[in-house]
Amino acid sequence: MLLVCSNRCGGRLFRALFAEVEVDASGEFQDYRVAQPGYVCLNCGAPALDLSEVPAAMEAEAREEEASTASTDILCPVCETMVQLDANMECPNCGAPLEVG
Ligand SMILES: [Zn+2]
Ligand SMILES: [Zn+2]
Repeated sequence: MLLVCSNRCGGRLFRALFAEVEVDASGEFQDYRVAQPGYVCLNCGAPALDLSEVPAAMEAEAREEEASTASTDILCPVCETMVQLDANMECPNCGAPLEVG
């Protein structure tokens, strides 16, 4: 875990907000509730970021981008509409045949 202030104020102290514990009337432990964001900067009150979790988040984002670029958007030469190329290789808007590239 590597916490930084999302405000970049340079604060080095953070308060943990997560792990609110629920108990029943007899005080018996019931459940954890994980609150988000997990930490706030004690210096300025901004939510803190856990830098050790950033690479995973960025990876997930990169994967999403890859997935979204896998579907091909092309400009139909006939009706000049941005269309998503489907298996039929024709414009869903006007029916003109489409070519990739
Ligand atoms: Zn701060
Ligand atoms: Zn078209």
